[in-house]
Parts: sequence; structure tokens; C-alpha cells
Amino acid sequence: MTMRRLLIFGPPGSGKGTQAALLAERRRLAHISTGDMLRAAMAAGSELGHQVRALVEAGDLVSDELMLALVERRLEEDDTREGFLLDGFPRTVKQAEGLLETLGADRAPDGVLLLSVPDEELVRRALARGRADDNESTIRHRLGVYRRQTAPVLGFLKGRLPILEIEGVGTLEEITERIERELDAADS
Ligand code: ADP
Repeated sequence: MTMRRLLIFGPPGSGKGTQAALLAERRRLAHISTGDMLRAAMAAGSELGHQVRALVEAGDLVSDELMLALVERRLEEDDTREGFLLDGFPRTVKQAEGLLETLGADRAPDGVLLLSVPDEELVRRALARGRADDNESTIRHRLGVYRRQTAPVLGFLKGRLPILEIEGVGTLEEITERIERELDAADS
């Protein structure tokens, strides 16, 4: 079985977004990045953008209801039929429950990629990146949010889906290589 319905997890600054974009392109999966969707809405000045700006800028989570509605709508689009890679979602156990219910048995995810990176490395990288919502206190706040709210999602998913853990320290190419190796092993 080839893995074509995937979730990718990793703390802020783990390189998850970069790896997700590359992986989605290589495997022709619809790349669904909720962070990118929210930032696009903010840049466009849409209603959604206005609703989420304060939370995103503070590094807090947008409500589960809003996020679930957004992702459910996205998953109805045709390009997700052949496979998708969810990046940044689910971020809470509630979102994970909603997602599995929405996808049902027919479209259940095949697996979860987990990029692991130590905290000090995460702060160092995030500061170097310089995004608008990246200053040291926001980064530390986002790490705390990740530990408190998102790490438990992995516990929830563990009994339900295969988790492929990938060491996220090294060059971009090395990490890509590790992801491919894990996926190939799971595919065969
Ligand atoms: P990073 O990869 O740096 O952790 P993302 O680009 O995935 O961040 O998301 C940026 C911000 O968008 C988050 O800090 C949060 O405010 C909001 N966000 C993204 N996805 C979700 C989600 N699934 N639930 C709630 N908030 C989200």
C-alpha cells in the first residue's frame, strides 16, 4: 500500500512546512497547510483573516470549530482525492477527532509523520527565520502551546494510525532522505 493520505507533525521551527511542501510535490499530494491558509486570509484582508489575526500573531490557536470547518471544506476539493498531506492540522485532540470522523473509514489517513527536534534548536531556527509572528517570546509561547495542546494529539493518534518518527536535525536533504526512507519502508 502506498501512503497517500498523510499528516505531518512537528513543533514550530521543526522544518515541517518546508518538508511538507517538498514531499507533497514529489508524491503529488494536495498540500494542506493551515498556517499558510490563515496567513493568506490575513494578507487578503478577508473576513476570516480579520477573525484570526490577533490569535495567530500571539501564537495562540484559532478555534477548533473554525479550523475544522476550514479543513473540511478544503478536503472536499478534487485535488485531495488522490491524496493529501495535512500540515499544521490537527493541532488539538478535538480537531483530530473531528478529522477522523469527517474522513471516515474510506478516506482514513494512512499514517503520521513526526519530525522531532530539540527545543534549543527550535528557538535558534525560529529566530533566524524572522517571520512576523516570530519573536522570542512568541516562539516560546508557540512551543508551550505545542507541548500542551498538540503533543497530546499524537497520543490520541498512536493507537489509531501508524506513526513514523523522523529525526529532524541535519541538512534539509538529509531529512528529506529520512522521510522517503520511512515512507518507502511503510509502503512496502
Ligand atoms: P508553525 O509551523 O510555525 O508552528 P503554522 O504555520 O502551522 O505554524 O501556523 C501558524 C499559526 O496559525 C499558529 O501559531 C496558530 O495561531 C494558527 N494555526 C494554524 N493551524 C492551526 C490549527 N490547526 N488550529 C489552530 N490554530 C492554527
